[in-house]
Amino acid sequence: MLLGEIRQDIVRVCRDLAAAGLAVGTSGNVSVRSADLVAVTPSGLAYEDMSADLVGVHRLDGTPAEASAEPTSELPLHLAIYASTDATAVVHTHSLAATAVSTVADELPAIHYYVAMFGGPVRVAPYATYGTEQLARNVVAALRERTGCIMGSHGAVTIGPDLKTAHTRSLYLEWLSELYLRATAAGQPRLLPPGEIEAVADKLAAYGQRRLD
Ligand code: 13P
Ligand code: ZN
Repeated sequence: MLLGEIRQDIVRVCRDLAAAGLAVGTSGNVSVRSADLVAVTPSGLAYEDMSADLVGVHRLDGTPAEASAEPTSELPLHLAIYASTDATAVVHTHSLAATAVSTVADELPAIHYYVAMFGGPVRVAPYATYGTEQLARNVVAALRERTGCIMGSHGAVTIGPDLKTAHTRSLYLEWLSELYLRATAAGQPRLLPPGEIEAVADKLAAYGQRRLD
């Protein structure tokens, strides 16, 4: 099986997204790029029914290399992101808080230092019909110098150098969106200055556990 391990990883992430409540029914899609191939979830299939053989492998021009099911209707979006960024994984969800933000705001501002994870305030891409080249263009523009964006009246997209990172970012983006909704319901949140977000981005690059010996 082409990209067998990657296809298994995608199935695991789909199950996690469903279990965490980020994906309801057949909403959202996930892909991973490996050289000139892209493994991508099938269209219209509930995540609990996903299996590695249903995750197809397509070339960067969208033609199937090994696929037993129709690819996600958002294949143009995934391919446009791979064509315009150096990301190798894309996670698209209709997670509730991010989608709520997508209906009322043009960006998720710097209310918390975690926006540094995304390169700064998270833009809301203008709405376009799902599965269209126009939606793909709007999302690519909103992702400029960012690792995630919100899609107007639709959902959220996160990208990364690997699937684990893109997946984790989808969880953080949902958390930030929930925070924004709660904060704006309670009052007018204070914003962090751009210089602070840049400083935190540098600090986060070295954040985490390293061996001390
Ligand atoms: P697919 O089932 O075709 O992946 O579509 C779901 C979706 O989120 C469309 O934007
Ligand atoms: Zn969608």
